[in-house]
Amino acid sequence: QRKAIVIGAGLGGISAAVSLKQEGYEVAIFEKNSQIGGKLNVHRERGYSFDLGPSILTLPHIFRRLFERSGKNLEDYIPIRTVRPHWRNFFEDGTVVDLYPEADKMAAEALKVGEPYENVERFLKYSADLYDLTNDGYFEQGLDNWREFGKHYGLWKFPQFDLFRNMHSGVASHFDTRYFRDVFDFFIKYVGSSAFRAPAFMNSMATIQFRYDLWYVDGGLYNIAVGLGRLMEELGVKVHLESAVEEVRREGGRVTGIVVGGEFHAADVVISNMEVIPAYKELLGEEGAFTRKLEKRLEPACSGLIIDLGLDRQYPQLAHHNFFFSDDQREHFRTVFEKRELPHDPTLYVVAASRTDATVAPQGCDALKILPHIPYIDDEHPLSRADYEALKDRVLEKLERMGLENLRQHVVVEHVWTPLDIREQYNSNKGSIYGVVSDRWKNLAFKAPKQSTKYPNLFFVGGSVNPGGGMPMVVLCGQNVAKKVVAWHAQC
Ligand code: FAD
Repeated sequence: QRKAIVIGAGLGGISAAVSLKQEGYEVAIFEKNSQIGGKLNVHRERGYSFDLGPSILTLPHIFRRLFERSGKNLEDYIPIRTVRPHWRNFFEDGTVVDLYPEADKMAAEALKVGEPYENVERFLKYSADLYDLTNDGYFEQGLDNWREFGKHYGLWKFPQFDLFRNMHSGVASHFDTRYFRDVFDFFIKYVGSSAFRAPAFMNSMATIQFRYDLWYVDGGLYNIAVGLGRLMEELGVKVHLESAVEEVRREGGRVTGIVVGGEFHAADVVISNMEVIPAYKELLGEEGAFTRKLEKRLEPACSGLIIDLGLDRQYPQLAHHNFFFSDDQREHFRTVFEKRELPHDPTLYVVAASRTDATVAPQGCDALKILPHIPYIDDEHPLSRADYEALKDRVLEKLERMGLENLRQHVVVEHVWTPLDIREQYNSNKGSIYGVVSDRWKNLAFKAPKQSTKYPNLFFVGGSVNPGGGMPMVVLCGQNVAKKVVAWHAQC
């Protein structure tokens, strides 16, 4: 039996481990932390429960495959349900717009702000065409480079990817009002990039939500990890917790296994869920031109300031998922992604999961997660905890100004994580929360390939690898990396 070792039990690592086990491999995962899930994480304190990582589940059918391939049913492991409205959007002038997948409800929201509904329909058609095109090859076939792209799509299909515009231009050409432009630009949040730098085909992301819906997991999203943990146990995947991998050993151009706590574990194939750049540098000791080239192309996606607040009251105007928009979103994107400074007036994502799930906060109270996107860590000019603290104050002032009156007086539990904590916890490259940035000038949204270009039996999975960050994408990546491993072994 062939032996696979997976480094890291994030969702990408888990998906690769399950998929390889289903292909008949003996699989062991080594995870540095004391729990599985990676960035899918939870913080619980005094009766409040916060999704410390992801809070929106999309494309559950990608997770479903992991269960169905073993004759099991996703819902028996992970209790999911849809959320309404999808998002509530607040603007500084007092305007509030909700997003619904139902046409009649969405039409009423558009009417409220004077956006012709035909514009929404036209945009969703444009988005759906891009999604179908991207899904058919890049996502489902796990394409990794131009050669594979050309072979799958043929040159004549390239213009359909809307390659010569950025995402914002694609949005702006469909909508009349700033409200709808700001909202649809912000779908880029799913991959932590800038709508002014990402290629227009990223507008496919609206379809992920409008066609396939937006989902919640009862008890909080960490229950995805709990369900997958059960599946791994039933399948016989060996999970080693508190086992940081220190080195990947090589011999004759191949990797031979890993070292944990000074002990060598041999493997026929190693799959790293540790991000590509830290893995090459820290586990393989690579440096020089090879890593410099990777660093140029694989710039990290943004990081975030995660502010969890347990309140002694509820703010009834909040939906489950809320966005409080910057008054100048172009400047917000420019500050975070080009100047790489902390924003003065960031767009804020605010989660109030108690709208869907009464178990996450004491009765009559809110457990809020607030997440502004902020730059990844610049090691040459690092920011201090005091800088992040000052941003937190600006964030809370903004929320009070935009209707969450006296918010700060109602805080009974506070837990804040900066990019420094995110890097420390997950070994993520410069504290990035979604892996590699999608930027049309730097990488045209391509991430690293799943198979190492240096060592043929070393593979990568997760947000720094195609197709990139976000829970469903890294789970898909795990399934596709398993196919690549099997195909590679077949030709050996
Ligand atoms: P990770 O989750 O980073 O897992 C990597 C694992 O490897 C970690 O467990 C780490 O501890 C381990 N590891 C690293 N180095 C070693 C080593 N040397 N030895 C052993 N183990 C090691 N996505 C969504 O779909 N919806 C959302 O709403 C959403 N919101 C988010 C909000 C926040 C605050 C964050 C942080 C992320 C969010 N995401 C969201 C993104 C999503 O969480 C990630 O894209 C995804 O979970 C990443 O999975 P991964 O497999 O790439 O890596």
